[in-house]
Amino acid sequence: MQVSKKMVSLVIPAFNEEENIPLIYHKITELFRSKMPQYVYEIIFVDDGSRDNTWSIIVDMAKRDTQVKGRKFSRNFGHQIALSAAYDAAQGEAIISMDADLQDPPELLHEMIQEWVGGADIVYARRINRNDGLLKKLTATIYYRLLSHVSDVSIPRNVGDFRLVDAKVLQQLKSCREKSRYLRGMVAWTGFTCAYVDFERPNRHAGQTGYTWKKMVHLAFDGMTSFSTFPLKIVGYMGVMAIAAVHIVFFYMLYQMLMHDAHYQLAAWLSLAGFAMLGVQSFALWLLGEYVGRIYKESQARPLYIVEQECNLDDINKHHTIREFTHVQTSGTTRNTTIL
Ligand code: UDP
Ligand code: MG
Repeated sequence: MQVSKKMVSLVIPAFNEEENIPLIYHKITELFRSKMPQYVYEIIFVDDGSRDNTWSIIVDMAKRDTQVKGRKFSRNFGHQIALSAAYDAAQGEAIISMDADLQDPPELLHEMIQEWVGGADIVYARRINRNDGLLKKLTATIYYRLLSHVSDVSIPRNVGDFRLVDAKVLQQLKSCREKSRYLRGMVAWTGFTCAYVDFERPNRHAGQTGYTWKKMVHLAFDGMTSFSTFPLKIVGYMGVMAIAAVHIVFFYMLYQMLMHDAHYQLAAWLSLAGFAMLGVQSFALWLLGEYVGRIYKESQARPLYIVEQECNLDDINKHHTIREFTHVQTSGTTRNTTIL
């Protein structure tokens, strides 16, 4: 019996990457040819509004090799949107997202796919070092620590967007159509089993980073606001602190008046009242924010939950069936398989 080969999609957003694209293409092609001939693959490049020859290079490659597919944006929409567009086009059973600049080494693909075959639905490539400048290193460390503390879902540290997801994870990601996208948070949010592959991240091969500080701050903000209501709560905490401080000062002044015959001018009482109002206002702002937060969550329109398995709910196989929404590793290429 001939078992059809499993398909792996490689999704690669590219912004001004003319020098890197031919190289990453050759590396991937060579890798699959030499180490993983048991898989078929597709490479999906999304040109995120490049101003160099990125697109014409992709088109040339696609003419020569049908495994290369491309999408071109009308302008620069940003890395996370480009990645989403690549995800939308992917047809593989495992989908690997990586950067075009060879900072995500293709040599790791083999190991990641092994982990997936071993049963992991998400495989993160985890950086064990950062070759970035001191400032980027420091801000990233602080940010990820803070995010993992305050976030509603546990987002793994030291992972970027170099990861493998199973098709069932992708199916869930595709149902999340929020505009502010923080994909690594969204992947973690799906909650499927994950594994890690560690690597040392090299420097970019050629060209310049497309991630300006402005884009990075935007991404960080999206991460924080999409997966935590902590920023909202800050004003609430400030309000509570202001109200508490006003109470302490008020009782102190009252005590001084009653016990030590102290006198306070009207201005002192007024400024105290002013602080109290400020506290109440911050508190009210937070309350208001909580409602806005809920509206925001509704508008994100994520699915309420993700079902991984079901039992006796299948109309066709009524008796004692467990339906696993997973690929079955041992029996070929089926997905969403019913296991008796
Ligand atoms: N990228 C993109 N759109 C952008 C910025 C970057 O598609 O607006 C792509 C870029 O081509 C690369 C990946 O996203 O494949 C990561 O970007 P970059 O290497 O510039 O980020 P860094 O590694 O410096 O954080
Ligand atoms: Mg890079």
